[in-house]
Amino acid sequence: MFENKDESRTSLSDLGEFGLINHLTQTFKIKQSSTVTGIGDDAAVIDPKENQLVVTTDLLVEGVHFDLSFMPLKHLGYKAVMVNLSDVYAMNAEATQITVSIAVSNRFPLEALEELYAGIELACSIYNVDLIGGDTTSSTTGLLISVTALGQAEPKQIVKRSGAKDGDLLVVSGDLGASYMGLQVLEREKQVYKVNPNAQPDLEPYAYLVERQLKPEARKDIVELLKKIEVLPTSMIDISDGLSSEIIHLCKSSKTGIRLYEEKIPLDPQLIQTCEEFELDSTTVALSGGEDYELLFTIKQEDYDKIKGNPHLTVIGHVTPEHDGMNLITRANTSIPIVARGWNALKNEE
Ligand code: ADP
Ligand code: MG
Repeated sequence: MFENKDESRTSLSDLGEFGLINHLTQTFKIKQSSTVTGIGDDAAVIDPKENQLVVTTDLLVEGVHFDLSFMPLKHLGYKAVMVNLSDVYAMNAEATQITVSIAVSNRFPLEALEELYAGIELACSIYNVDLIGGDTTSSTTGLLISVTALGQAEPKQIVKRSGAKDGDLLVVSGDLGASYMGLQVLEREKQVYKVNPNAQPDLEPYAYLVERQLKPEARKDIVELLKKIEVLPTSMIDISDGLSSEIIHLCKSSKTGIRLYEEKIPLDPQLIQTCEEFELDSTTVALSGGEDYELLFTIKQEDYDKIKGNPHLTVIGHVTPEHDGMNLITRANTSIPIVARGWNALKNEE
């Protein structure tokens, strides 16, 4: 951790652009039947047949979205893909292809890009997604990575943010807040390291939190589960900016209100313990932390029996008429309005 391993360094300029792309992508396999033409032509060709295509892009910038002093490049490659696949799954679609564009400075040797692409390749093979193209250019300072993900679904299976109705149940997958606390732990260890480079960080007590920050998983399994149990959500969104801001997006798009119950918000025991150590309120962290990449969705009440008891899903509230507003019902049974703060706001408070 925190060290540049530079045993062997091959300069990027030695390969030339096409040699570099070829070197980085030669081991990737095409798995999707809808991929007609992948890397190597002027454009990729996709045949979605009777499905609709969904498309999403994210741009990650060094120093803004990631810190390479504690983010291994392999994890960064993996995470850059996850962030995009999560958006595809939030449409209730299957992710099928990605493109990857990078801008790198000559501070990065070939070996660094090999690490980055190893993470991308791992994500592609686990999630059954094809890498079908991208762009490569130079940067004067840091690393930029932009991933575009494509997915497909039958038109009637696509779920938008706008379909929630009064009386629907609000459901979330997994647990919340862990990724944010993982980042707090990593940033604390980085400060310790700056003062004493010989200090060995003991991340063991925070293993789950750190893993959620460095190696998040997109919830392909939840999309598959919902299909299997025949539940079509009425609205859905993925949690990248924190529960409260995603709830507000759902409610505004659907023109509804919400009642969210504090006591129902799923929290991992390690999160609760670490929040105590950092003197942070775990509900605030879950509401505003972000980078959870869980799915937040609404279902009709009549579908409740189909999800009841599933360990991956928790009912955390219900949809109300728009004029009732968006409210958090606290453990003390008081009602407070939900406000969007996002993790930047949370940071500024500290
Ligand atoms: P063009 O000049 O036509 O844009 P490029 O030389 O940039 O072509 O790219 C050649 C091929 O390699 C294309 O199929 C492109 O999609 C792919 N490609 C370029 N950069 C990357 C990258 N970083 N990752 C994956 N594929 C890439
Ligand atoms: Mg190009």
